[in-house]
Parts: sequence; C-alpha cells; structure tokens
Amino acid sequence: MEEIRNFVIIAHVDHGKSTLADRFLEITNTVPERRMKPQYLDQLELERERGITIKMAPVRMTYKPPNAKKPFILNLIDTPGHSDFAYEVSRALTAVEGAILLVDATQGIQAQTIANLNAARRTGLTIIGAINKVDLFENVNFTERLDKIVGEVAELLGVSPNDIFKISGKTGKGVKELLDGAVAQIPPPRALTEESTNAGRALIFDSFYDDHRGIIASVRVFEGEIHLHDELHLLATETQTRAKELGHFLPQLTPLTSGCTLSIGDIGYIATGVRDPEKVKIGDSVIAHPPVNRDIKSLALAGYEEPQPTAFVSFYPEEGDDYELLTRSLARLRLNDAALSIEPDQNELLGRGFKVGFLGRLHFEITGERLKREFGVETVNTFPSVRYRIKTKRGWQTIIKPEDLPNDYEEIWEPTVRVSILLPHAYVDSMFPLFRKFSMRDINTAIRHDHAEIIALMPLAELISDFDDQLKSLSQGYASFSYELTDYTKADIVKVDIFVSHRLIPGLSRFFPKDGY
Ligand code: GDP
Ligand code: MG
Repeated sequence: MEEIRNFVIIAHVDHGKSTLADRFLEITNTVPERRMKPQYLDQLELERERGITIKMAPVRMTYKPPNAKKPFILNLIDTPGHSDFAYEVSRALTAVEGAILLVDATQGIQAQTIANLNAARRTGLTIIGAINKVDLFENVNFTERLDKIVGEVAELLGVSPNDIFKISGKTGKGVKELLDGAVAQIPPPRALTEESTNAGRALIFDSFYDDHRGIIASVRVFEGEIHLHDELHLLATETQTRAKELGHFLPQLTPLTSGCTLSIGDIGYIATGVRDPEKVKIGDSVIAHPPVNRDIKSLALAGYEEPQPTAFVSFYPEEGDDYELLTRSLARLRLNDAALSIEPDQNELLGRGFKVGFLGRLHFEITGERLKREFGVETVNTFPSVRYRIKTKRGWQTIIKPEDLPNDYEEIWEPTVRVSILLPHAYVDSMFPLFRKFSMRDINTAIRHDHAEIIALMPLAELISDFDDQLKSLSQGYASFSYELTDYTKADIVKVDIFVSHRLIPGLSRFFPKDGY
C-alpha cells in the first residue's frame, strides 16, 4: 500500500481538469502518444461534443517519483465540474485519499471550486491547490493578478502561497512538479480502523452494462483481496455471483494477468456476470470469502447517501412500441448514473412512460441525449417540474404535474433553495433584473477581495427554469452559483390551463407566479 496513491482532480467547470489529466497520462506513459487526444478521459461522444465531463473517469498510472526505489501506482479519477453532476464527484471522493483542487487563473475561485472543496474536506481528503492556465499570463505583465489569485486560493485552503502549484495543463509547465507534490503529500491508502476480518471488501462506486460481460462494477478495495472466480456477495441486494473478470482502468478495461488480485487500496473493476440491473447497486459492498463466524451484513462498508432529485420530467417513447426498449434502457442507464430516480408513469395522450427525477436541468438534458445515442430510444418529455405540496381540506398531498392540482386546493407549497452566486464585484449591479425575474428574496451581498457573494432564497422551480443561462449572460460568463434545498414555502402561484380548439390539454398546464412578469 505504501506505493499506492489515489486521488481526484476537482474544480469548477472548464478550469482544466481533463486537460491536466492528459498531461499526467503523458508523463506516466499511460496512453501512447499516437493515441493521445485532448481531454482523453472524456470518452462519451456527448462529452467530446459538448466539451464537458459528465462521468467520473478512473485511470491507473504507473510512475516512478524522483528518489523513489520502486514505481508507484497512481489511481486518478477525473471528475465533472457542473453542479448537476455533484453526485458523481461525491462518489469519486470516497474512493480516494487526496484531491488536486484546480483553479483557472483567469476565472479565480468560482462556486463549484468551493462546493467541491467543501465536499473533499467533509470526506477528510488531503487537498493540494493548483492554479491552472498560467500560460495565459506569460506574455503580458500579469504577475500581480496571478499573485492575487494564488493568495486567495492559499487563504481558502489555509496554506502558504508557496504551497500552491502554478501550472499550465496546456503547455505542461509545472505539471510534473504538481504530480511529484501529489505523490509526496497525499497519504497512501490506510487499512480500516476496525479489526481485520480477512475478507475481501470493496465498495461499488460506479457501474455499467457490457453486452458480453454483463454488469461491470467499478470498485475501491478497502480490505483484503479479491481473486478471479471468487464467490462474491453483493450485500444490499443479497446476490451471490462469481468474479468473472478482474481488472484495472488504463483507462480502457484491462484484465489482470493471471494470479493477480484486486487488493486493499486498489481501484479497479469486477465483471460480475450479473445481468439484472436491479441486483448491482452503486454504494453497495462486494464481499469475498467472509469469515464464517460473522454475520456477513456486518461487513458492509459505508455506502452513499441517496441523492435528492430536484427536477422531475416524464419520458414517453416516441413510438409506442419502444416502451420495452425505454424500460430496459433506463435501467441500464441508471447503472451508470446513480443520481437518476425512476418511476412508472402514465399519460392519456402519450401512453406509458417513466417519471424520472434529476439533479438539475443539465442532468435532464444529458439523460435525454444519452437515451438517444447510447440506447437508440427517441423520447418525448414533459416540462421539468418540482415536487409541490398541496394543502386541501382533506389534508396534505404531493404533486409534480400541475394537471394533478386538486380543484378544492387551499394552498400550494413549493421547495425553496438558498442560492449562492459568486461574481466579480463589477457585475453586482447587473444582477438586479435577475432578482425579480426569478422571484428571489432575502437577498444579501458580501464583498470579499474583488469578488462578491450574493446569497438569496428562491423557488427551486425558478432555479430549474433558465436561471443558469440568464446568470451567465448578465454577467458575461463570470458569475457562477451553487445552491442547497432549504424548505417548503407557501407559493404565490396559479395554474394556467391551455386549451387547443376549445379542448383542455392537461399535459400543457403550467404553474406561473400570480403577479406575473
Ligand atoms: P474541465 O471542464 O475542468 O475538465 O476543463 P477542460 O480540461 O475540458 O478544459 C476547459 C478548456 O480550458 C479547454 O478549452 C482547454 O483547452 C482549456 N485549457 C485547459 N487547460 C489550459 C491551460 O493550461 N491553458 C490554457 N490556455 N487553456 C487551458
Ligand atoms: Mg473535464
């Protein structure tokens, strides 16, 4: 274990995580030069097209640090930066001991810089700060600005400015020093604090479906060893199976050579041979050769908190015949996206479909696209909605679709979020139109250095409309936001019904603020 280092790269969107990972892949000769392409770890077609990372991507590298006698194993996980994919990040964090927190020198600290840093701290990781894109500061006399950002990041991390690495993922400047720093500062994996059980125990942090091998589980081993053909217990679903294939991410799936095992501290994959997506759960523990004198359930590793969906959209197959295909596709997609929640749904016009819960609007858009591209299902969908609580004389009930609002309702309560907007000081005034348009209230502004933070309450339903786009355009791309759900509040909204040729179409009903805008 002394020669293993497991770490993630975390940052706000576009601060250069995947590009930095490219340089690491080159330095360690993990990917041959002729196969190298920008953002190599963004393997989904959709990621390449949109230029964003959606999935965490693990890769195992071998590297001999200066002065080391033996080569080290470095397991790196690249992560997405957009807040809709925070669940991916949180799962990657539990598989590692350290994090490189990257900050784009031209943007400075942004909302997801802080959100991801806080998540890494909660997980107890060793955090290394790095300022990226310093190549953009070379030709001009920008040292003062660069020093200022270094100072801000050092303050955020509670370290000296000398401890912050200054790098360019594009030119490679300073990247080797950062890698050596990561190896030196991040601790090797540690054994669990509880008494050893001699079992092989691993946590499933991701999974996907492979047509030939069935469900593949991405795992971090926390105790003992797992051998090829071992009998495996998947605890949460009480499933027994055998390890059909074990391997590492290079980053493509590469089987272990015979006689090798996945052992404590390792990150790798297990081909489970299981084909039913219900049986393999992200966050579940995989146990091999449990001790006979112990209740196997007591060997469970700490799993993950269930994500709380914020936006709900119903999907229906465009062709009614595709219902079975949609069912199967969603189940398989869920293996690879544990943040989705899926329930059957029914619509008078569109037939049978599924109500799917998402972590935000981008998450919903990406899911529709993945269904189309990876599974070949075309879908029609409803508008994104939130979960409303409705007070009637008969008591409380919950609805998602405005069409389900009972006629005798007394009050509509809606989920509220506390949103935090980070932006350069100079843009604060340009935010005013946003406040009214998105029904924001209890607005507080704090200034730190040349940045401002605006904190406000607003309806979640407003946030998942086009808040993101409007914020970006009003601030010329400089503002970023994060949010947390607070509570339900009584909403001043009404249902607007839409009639087509004098006929009410329930699926088109929407909620609008009563005062309008
Ligand atoms: P991620 O979203 O954090 O993974 O960021 P990417 O690695 O996808 O990079 C976002 C954009 O920044 C891309 O256009 C990169 O080419 C660019 N970029 C990344 N690193 C650097 C750098 O060091 N210097 C410059 N000039 N551009 C960079
Ligand atoms: Mg990326």
